[in-house]
Amino acid sequence: MRALCWHGERDVRVDEVPEPEIVNPTDAIIEVTATAICGSDLHLYNDRVPSMREGDVIGHEPMGEVVEVGDEVDTLEVGDRVVVPFTISCGSCWFCEQGLYSLCDNSNPNAELARKLMGHSPAGLYGYSHMMGGYAGAQAEYLRVPYADVGPITIESNLPDEQVLFLSDIFPTGYMAAENADIEENDTVAVWGCGPVGQFAIQSAQMLGAERVIAIDRIPERLDMARSHGDAEVIDYEEEDVYDRLMELTGSRGPDRCIDAVGTDAHGTGFAGTSDRVKQEVRLQDDRPYVLREAIKCCRKGGTISVPGVYVGRANLPIGPLMNKGLTVKTGQTHVQRYLDSLLGMIEEGQIDPSFVVTHQAGLEEGPELYEKFNDKEDGCIKAILTP
Ligand SMILES: [Zn+2]
Ligand SMILES: [Zn+2]
Repeated sequence: MRALCWHGERDVRVDEVPEPEIVNPTDAIIEVTATAICGSDLHLYNDRVPSMREGDVIGHEPMGEVVEVGDEVDTLEVGDRVVVPFTISCGSCWFCEQGLYSLCDNSNPNAELARKLMGHSPAGLYGYSHMMGGYAGAQAEYLRVPYADVGPITIESNLPDEQVLFLSDIFPTGYMAAENADIEENDTVAVWGCGPVGQFAIQSAQMLGAERVIAIDRIPERLDMARSHGDAEVIDYEEEDVYDRLMELTGSRGPDRCIDAVGTDAHGTGFAGTSDRVKQEVRLQDDRPYVLREAIKCCRKGGTISVPGVYVGRANLPIGPLMNKGLTVKTGQTHVQRYLDSLLGMIEEGQIDPSFVVTHQAGLEEGPELYEKFNDKEDGCIKAILTP
């Protein structure tokens, strides 16, 4: 079958690879009908994620049709149309039982690698390095789905793929980001990053009762989308100083809740931005936490910072301001399974149509070109769907 494979920095290719097979009786195989490129795939593309190997199939935002099920799969049948969460979860360990699906104790066969770096291993992820399980990714014609009774949600309605596909990651991720921000009535929420996760965080913050949402980015079409679809006030950080403008907009108090929907590869400006790049190049730090530092500086005292943006290693953070301002930080990979039923319900009831973020749609062959466009923020690319 054809699949998008990782070959190093800025090098993604369409390769011919073996079709997946049932390995465990709890597996299913799906024929992928739509699969998205994620902002976090760009961390792979830019070679920021450790333990990738040449030829790894990437991608983690799929949906498709079930074509084979293992003997112990009860909830799925051949022919079912399913969306598959990017987090692989066993459903029966202590963490899964608490609803902490992205922290599953059983789904990462390479847990030891992760444990060395982090102390404990989070759940396995599709197409996201060997440290995260070495699972083949979903930008391919077929995908093996482990623990098939736990992850995939069956789509009974005839909503088109582009309306339900983002249940696999970015809609629940934006929603959990807003939930983690502990939004209360009358709150002002600032969202850094108006990529797809940022857009869903903005809309979710509105749905969870924010009084005002202020969105920060530098790409005009992303700021436009935040304004038009997310009803947000916007700050272009290349035009204005973010701290000064946020203080102006909030009577010097600062936003009550801050969401970092950017993560490790923050663009940054000025000396701090350059300094982050240099430190990363010489390996003094793995991440460029420009946004997180800015959020700590801007957040009102006693406020909450929610971090859906992906970080990969170590970086210098202003721990003193964080402590002395009494801030709460909440983060984590998304517990996708926890949100599937309720968010699908919202889509079916027409409260939200997630397809508003889609700007590009193409076959697998155009994957490498779309990665380049998405990475370089060219051609108005905000979200690309591949149809294998
Ligand atoms: Zn994703
Ligand atoms: Zn588990």
